[in-house]
Amino acid sequence: MSSSSSSSSSSSSLPPQTLKIGIVGFGTFGQFLAKTMIKQGHTTRATSRTDYSQLCHQLDVPFFRDVIPFLEADNDVILICTSILSLSEVLNSMPLRRLKRHTLFVDVLSVKEHPRNVLLQVLPENMDVLCTHPMFGPESGKNGWKDLPLVYEKVRVRDETRCSSFLHIFESEGCRMVEMSCEEHDKVAARSQFLSHSIGRILAEMGIESTSMNTKSFETLVKLKESTTNDSFDLFSGLFIHNRFAQQELMNLEQSFEKVKQRLLKKMSEQQSLSSV
Ligand code: NAP
Repeated sequence: MSSSSSSSSSSSSLPPQTLKIGIVGFGTFGQFLAKTMIKQGHTTRATSRTDYSQLCHQLDVPFFRDVIPFLEADNDVILICTSILSLSEVLNSMPLRRLKRHTLFVDVLSVKEHPRNVLLQVLPENMDVLCTHPMFGPESGKNGWKDLPLVYEKVRVRDETRCSSFLHIFESEGCRMVEMSCEEHDKVAARSQFLSHSIGRILAEMGIESTSMNTKSFETLVKLKESTTNDSFDLFSGLFIHNRFAQQELMNLEQSFEKVKQRLLKKMSEQQSLSSV
Protein backbone atom coordinates (compact mmCIF):
# COMPACT_ATOMS: atom_id res chain seq x y z
CA MET A 1 0.00 0.00 0.00
CA SER A 2 1.44 3.36 -0.96
CA SER A 3 -0.52 5.34 1.60
CA SER A 4 1.30 7.45 4.12
CA SER A 5 0.06 8.53 7.48
CA SER A 6 1.53 11.53 9.17
CA SER A 7 0.83 13.85 12.05
CA SER A 8 1.59 16.89 9.89
CA SER A 9 0.60 17.23 6.25
CA SER A 10 1.81 20.82 5.96
CA SER A 11 4.47 21.13 3.31
CA SER A 12 4.32 24.91 3.75
CA SER A 13 6.35 26.40 6.58
CA LEU A 14 4.03 29.43 6.77
CA PRO A 15 1.49 29.55 9.61
CA PRO A 16 -2.01 28.37 8.57
CA GLN A 17 -4.24 31.04 7.04
CA THR A 18 -7.77 31.85 8.08
CA LEU A 19 -9.85 30.80 5.09
CA LYS A 20 -13.03 31.95 3.39
CA ILE A 21 -14.84 28.69 2.67
CA GLY A 22 -17.88 28.42 0.40
CA ILE A 23 -19.86 25.24 1.09
CA VAL A 24 -21.89 23.63 -1.70
CA GLY A 25 -24.48 21.24 -0.21
CA PHE A 26 -25.51 22.25 3.29
CA GLY A 27 -27.12 18.95 4.36
CA THR A 28 -26.15 16.86 7.39
CA PHE A 29 -22.46 16.58 6.62
CA GLY A 30 -21.94 20.11 5.27
CA GLN A 31 -23.45 21.54 8.48
CA PHE A 32 -21.38 19.21 10.64
CA LEU A 33 -18.10 20.34 9.02
CA ALA A 34 -19.13 24.02 9.03
CA LYS A 35 -19.51 24.05 12.82
CA THR A 36 -15.86 23.10 13.38
CA MET A 37 -14.65 25.51 10.68
CA ILE A 38 -16.57 28.38 12.33
CA LYS A 39 -15.24 27.37 15.76
CA GLN A 40 -11.71 27.62 14.34
CA GLY A 41 -12.33 31.17 13.08
CA HIS A 42 -12.74 30.49 9.35
CA THR A 43 -15.40 32.39 7.43
CA THR A 44 -18.06 30.18 5.88
CA ARG A 45 -20.93 30.78 3.47
CA ALA A 46 -23.23 28.21 1.91
CA THR A 47 -25.44 27.34 -1.02
CA SER A 48 -27.69 24.32 -1.40
CA ARG A 49 -30.69 22.94 -3.26
CA THR A 50 -32.85 23.33 -0.13
CA ASP A 51 -33.36 26.77 1.41
CA TYR A 52 -31.30 26.76 4.63
CA SER A 53 -31.62 30.55 5.18
CA GLN A 54 -33.11 30.22 8.66
CA LEU A 55 -30.64 27.65 9.92
CA CYS A 56 -27.76 29.64 8.40
CA HIS A 57 -29.02 32.79 10.09
CA GLN A 58 -28.76 31.01 13.46
CA LEU A 59 -25.23 29.85 12.64
CA ASP A 60 -24.26 33.29 11.32
CA VAL A 61 -23.40 31.77 7.93
CA PRO A 62 -24.50 33.79 4.87
CA PHE A 63 -26.77 31.60 2.71
CA PHE A 64 -26.93 32.09 -1.06
CA ARG A 65 -30.07 30.88 -2.82
CA ASP A 66 -28.50 32.02 -6.07
CA VAL A 67 -25.28 30.28 -7.03
CA ILE A 68 -23.87 33.21 -9.08
CA PRO A 69 -23.26 35.61 -6.16
CA PHE A 70 -21.99 32.58 -4.23
CA LEU A 71 -19.37 31.94 -6.93
CA GLU A 72 -18.55 35.63 -7.16
CA ALA A 73 -18.00 35.89 -3.40
CA ASP A 74 -14.37 35.94 -2.43
CA ASN A 75 -13.89 32.20 -1.67
CA ASP A 76 -10.43 30.78 -0.96
CA VAL A 77 -11.95 27.31 -0.93
CA ILE A 78 -15.11 25.83 -2.41
CA LEU A 79 -16.04 22.77 -0.38
CA ILE A 80 -18.27 20.27 -2.16
CA CYS A 81 -20.53 18.41 0.32
CA THR A 82 -23.30 17.24 -2.03
CA SER A 83 -24.44 13.63 -2.30
CA ILE A 84 -22.35 11.32 -4.46
CA LEU A 85 -25.27 10.80 -6.83
CA SER A 86 -25.88 14.53 -7.43
CA LEU A 87 -22.25 15.65 -7.85
CA SER A 88 -22.19 15.81 -11.67
CA GLU A 89 -25.58 17.52 -11.88
CA VAL A 90 -24.63 20.09 -9.23
CA LEU A 91 -21.24 20.94 -10.76
CA ASN A 92 -22.54 21.01 -14.31
CA SER A 93 -25.30 23.42 -13.28
CA MET A 94 -22.78 25.91 -11.80
CA PRO A 95 -21.55 28.70 -14.10
CA LEU A 96 -17.94 28.08 -13.12
CA ARG A 97 -16.64 30.77 -15.50
CA ARG A 98 -18.08 33.30 -13.02
CA LEU A 99 -15.30 32.44 -10.58
CA LYS A 100 -13.35 35.62 -10.05
CA ARG A 101 -10.13 34.12 -8.72
CA HIS A 102 -8.07 30.95 -8.47
CA THR A 103 -9.84 28.79 -5.92
CA LEU A 104 -9.11 25.51 -4.18
CA PHE A 105 -11.91 23.01 -4.81
CA VAL A 106 -12.20 20.35 -2.11
CA ASP A 107 -14.67 17.50 -2.04
CA VAL A 108 -15.59 15.27 0.91
CA LEU A 109 -17.45 12.53 -0.96
CA SER A 110 -17.22 8.98 0.40
CA VAL A 111 -15.93 7.74 -2.96
CA LYS A 112 -12.86 9.33 -4.49
CA GLU A 113 -12.16 8.46 -8.13
CA HIS A 114 -15.56 9.79 -9.23
CA PRO A 115 -15.24 13.33 -7.78
CA ARG A 116 -11.59 13.51 -8.88
CA ASN A 117 -12.62 12.72 -12.47
CA VAL A 118 -15.62 15.05 -12.47
CA LEU A 119 -13.69 17.95 -10.91
CA LEU A 120 -10.84 17.60 -13.40
CA GLN A 121 -13.36 17.49 -16.21
CA VAL A 122 -15.52 20.49 -15.28
CA LEU A 123 -13.11 22.90 -13.61
CA PRO A 124 -11.02 25.47 -15.43
CA GLU A 125 -7.37 24.39 -15.46
CA ASN A 126 -6.32 27.18 -13.08
CA MET A 127 -8.40 25.81 -10.18
CA ASP A 128 -6.66 23.64 -7.57
CA VAL A 129 -8.20 20.29 -6.58
CA LEU A 130 -7.93 18.45 -3.27
CA CYS A 131 -9.94 15.24 -2.83
CA THR A 132 -10.69 14.27 0.77
CA HIS A 133 -12.72 11.76 2.71
CA PRO A 134 -13.23 12.39 6.41
CA MET A 135 -13.77 8.80 7.60
CA PHE A 136 -16.27 9.88 10.26
CA GLY A 137 -19.61 11.60 10.54
CA PRO A 138 -21.89 13.52 12.90
CA GLU A 139 -22.31 10.48 15.15
CA SER A 140 -18.77 9.09 15.30
CA GLY A 141 -17.30 12.61 15.42
CA LYS A 142 -19.74 14.14 17.88
CA ASN A 143 -17.22 14.16 20.75
CA GLY A 144 -14.34 15.45 18.65
CA TRP A 145 -12.25 14.29 15.71
CA LYS A 146 -9.17 13.08 17.61
CA ASP A 147 -7.53 10.05 15.93
CA LEU A 148 -10.27 9.84 13.29
CA PRO A 149 -8.80 9.40 9.78
CA LEU A 150 -8.86 12.08 7.10
CA VAL A 151 -7.91 10.50 3.77
CA TYR A 152 -6.79 12.88 1.05
CA GLU A 153 -5.06 13.21 -2.30
CA LYS A 154 -3.58 16.49 -3.56
CA VAL A 155 -4.83 16.02 -7.10
CA ARG A 156 -3.80 19.41 -8.54
CA VAL A 157 -2.32 21.75 -5.98
CA ARG A 158 -0.19 24.73 -6.88
CA ASP A 159 -0.93 26.91 -3.86
CA GLU A 160 0.55 24.71 -1.15
CA THR A 161 -0.01 27.27 1.61
CA ARG A 162 -3.75 27.43 1.02
CA CYS A 163 -4.01 23.63 0.74
CA SER A 164 -2.01 23.14 3.96
CA SER A 165 -4.23 25.68 5.72
CA PHE A 166 -7.28 23.68 4.70
CA LEU A 167 -5.76 20.37 5.83
CA HIS A 168 -4.77 22.05 9.08
CA ILE A 169 -8.47 22.29 9.97
CA PHE A 170 -8.41 18.49 10.42
CA GLU A 171 -4.87 18.22 11.78
CA SER A 172 -5.56 20.73 14.51
CA GLU A 173 -8.58 18.69 15.64
CA GLY A 174 -6.24 15.69 16.04
CA CYS A 175 -7.30 13.75 12.92
CA ARG A 176 -5.02 11.02 11.61
CA MET A 177 -3.91 12.38 8.23
CA VAL A 178 -3.73 9.62 5.60
CA GLU A 179 -2.41 10.61 2.17
CA MET A 180 -3.59 8.04 -0.38
CA SER A 181 -4.48 7.99 -4.06
CA CYS A 182 -8.17 8.15 -4.95
CA GLU A 183 -7.88 4.73 -6.61
CA GLU A 184 -6.38 3.13 -3.54
CA HIS A 185 -8.99 4.77 -1.32
CA ASP A 186 -11.79 3.27 -3.41
CA LYS A 187 -10.21 -0.21 -3.38
CA VAL A 188 -9.83 -0.19 0.39
CA ALA A 189 -13.21 1.49 1.04
CA ALA A 190 -15.08 -1.09 -1.07
CA ARG A 191 -13.74 -3.81 1.21
CA SER A 192 -14.30 -1.89 4.43
CA GLN A 193 -16.84 0.94 4.38
CA PHE A 194 -19.08 -0.39 1.58
CA LEU A 195 -18.98 -3.88 3.11
CA SER A 196 -19.96 -2.63 6.56
CA HIS A 197 -22.76 -0.47 5.11
CA SER A 198 -24.06 -3.47 3.10
CA ILE A 199 -24.09 -5.74 6.14
CA GLY A 200 -25.76 -2.99 8.21
CA ARG A 201 -28.47 -2.64 5.54
CA ILE A 202 -28.99 -6.44 5.42
CA LEU A 203 -29.39 -6.50 9.22
CA ALA A 204 -31.93 -3.66 8.95
CA GLU A 205 -33.84 -5.64 6.28
CA MET A 206 -33.95 -8.53 8.78
CA GLY A 207 -35.33 -6.14 11.41
CA ILE A 208 -32.81 -7.10 14.10
CA GLU A 209 -33.41 -5.38 17.44
CA SER A 210 -31.64 -5.30 20.78
CA THR A 211 -32.77 -8.10 23.16
CA SER A 212 -32.60 -8.61 26.92
CA MET A 213 -29.84 -11.21 26.40
CA ASN A 214 -27.48 -9.45 23.95
CA THR A 215 -24.00 -10.86 23.58
CA LYS A 216 -21.26 -8.30 22.95
CA SER A 217 -21.04 -9.38 19.30
CA PHE A 218 -24.79 -9.01 18.84
CA GLU A 219 -24.58 -5.52 20.35
CA THR A 220 -21.94 -4.74 17.71
CA LEU A 221 -24.39 -5.84 15.02
CA VAL A 222 -27.20 -3.69 16.42
CA LYS A 223 -24.84 -0.68 16.52
CA LEU A 224 -23.74 -1.39 12.95
CA LYS A 225 -27.36 -1.51 11.80
CA GLU A 226 -28.13 1.78 13.54
CA SER A 227 -25.06 3.67 12.36
CA THR A 228 -25.38 2.62 8.72
CA THR A 229 -29.11 3.30 8.46
CA ASN A 230 -28.60 6.78 9.93
CA ASP A 231 -26.91 7.68 6.64
CA SER A 232 -29.13 8.39 3.63
CA PHE A 233 -29.86 5.67 1.07
CA ASP A 234 -28.39 8.07 -1.52
CA LEU A 235 -25.09 7.87 0.34
CA PHE A 236 -25.17 4.05 0.49
CA SER A 237 -26.12 3.64 -3.17
CA GLY A 238 -23.44 6.17 -4.13
CA LEU A 239 -20.84 3.95 -2.44
CA PHE A 240 -21.92 1.19 -4.84
CA ILE A 241 -22.67 3.04 -8.07
CA HIS A 242 -19.59 5.28 -8.09
CA ASN A 243 -16.94 2.95 -6.70
CA ARG A 244 -15.82 0.57 -9.45
CA PHE A 245 -14.52 -1.91 -6.86
CA ALA A 246 -17.81 -2.24 -4.95
CA GLN A 247 -19.63 -4.63 -7.29
CA GLN A 248 -16.94 -7.29 -6.84
CA GLU A 249 -17.21 -6.97 -3.06
CA LEU A 250 -20.99 -7.41 -3.22
CA MET A 251 -20.45 -10.61 -5.26
CA ASN A 252 -17.83 -11.79 -2.74
CA LEU A 253 -20.34 -11.22 0.06
CA GLU A 254 -23.02 -13.20 -1.76
CA GLN A 255 -20.63 -16.08 -2.59
CA SER A 256 -19.28 -16.20 0.95
CA PHE A 257 -22.80 -16.27 2.37
CA GLU A 258 -23.63 -19.18 0.04
CA LYS A 259 -20.42 -21.06 1.03
CA VAL A 260 -21.15 -20.72 4.75
CA LYS A 261 -24.75 -21.85 4.17
CA GLN A 262 -23.60 -24.90 2.17
CA ARG A 263 -21.13 -25.90 4.89
CA LEU A 264 -23.90 -25.76 7.49
CA LEU A 265 -26.32 -27.78 5.34
CA LYS A 266 -23.63 -30.38 4.61
CA LYS A 267 -22.84 -30.74 8.31
CA MET A 268 -26.54 -31.07 9.12
CA SER A 269 -27.05 -33.84 6.60
CA GLU A 270 -23.92 -35.67 7.94
CA GLN A 271 -25.35 -35.47 11.46
CA GLN A 272 -28.76 -36.65 10.32
CA SER A 273 -27.30 -39.69 8.54
CA LEU A 274 -25.21 -40.55 11.65
CA SER A 275 -28.24 -40.40 13.93
CA SER A 276 -30.32 -42.55 11.57
CA VAL A 277 -27.75 -45.43 11.72
P1 NAP B 1 -26.09 12.78 1.37
O1 NAP B 1 -27.48 12.27 1.28
O2 NAP B 1 -25.02 11.94 0.83
O3 NAP B 1 -26.02 14.23 0.70
C1 NAP B 1 -26.90 15.26 1.07
C2 NAP B 1 -26.48 16.54 0.38
O4 NAP B 1 -26.58 16.39 -1.05
C3 NAP B 1 -27.36 17.71 0.77
O5 NAP B 1 -26.57 18.86 0.88
C4 NAP B 1 -28.32 17.82 -0.41
O6 NAP B 1 -28.77 19.13 -0.62
C5 NAP B 1 -27.44 17.42 -1.56
N1 NAP B 1 -28.21 16.86 -2.68
C6 NAP B 1 -28.77 15.63 -2.76
N2 NAP B 1 -29.40 15.47 -3.95
C7 NAP B 1 -29.24 16.63 -4.64
C8 NAP B 1 -29.64 17.09 -5.91
N3 NAP B 1 -30.36 16.31 -6.76
N4 NAP B 1 -29.29 18.34 -6.29
C9 NAP B 1 -28.59 19.14 -5.46
N5 NAP B 1 -28.16 18.77 -4.23
C10 NAP B 1 -28.49 17.53 -3.83
O7 NAP B 1 -25.86 13.07 2.95
P2 NAP B 1 -24.68 13.74 3.80
O8 NAP B 1 -24.52 12.83 4.96
O9 NAP B 1 -24.99 15.16 4.04
O10 NAP B 1 -23.36 13.60 2.91
C11 NAP B 1 -22.89 14.63 2.10
C12 NAP B 1 -21.58 14.20 1.43
O11 NAP B 1 -20.60 13.95 2.44
C13 NAP B 1 -21.72 12.89 0.64
O12 NAP B 1 -21.00 12.98 -0.55
C14 NAP B 1 -21.12 11.84 1.57
O13 NAP B 1 -20.57 10.76 0.84
C15 NAP B 1 -20.05 12.66 2.28
N6 NAP B 1 -19.70 12.17 3.61
C16 NAP B 1 -20.68 11.96 4.51
C17 NAP B 1 -20.36 11.46 5.77
C18 NAP B 1 -21.43 11.21 6.81
O14 NAP B 1 -21.12 10.62 7.85
N7 NAP B 1 -22.65 11.61 6.63
C19 NAP B 1 -19.01 11.18 6.09
C20 NAP B 1 -18.02 11.44 5.14
C21 NAP B 1 -18.37 11.93 3.90
P3 NAP B 1 -30.02 19.72 0.19
O15 NAP B 1 -29.73 19.46 1.65
O16 NAP B 1 -29.97 21.17 -0.18
O17 NAP B 1 -31.24 19.01 -0.29
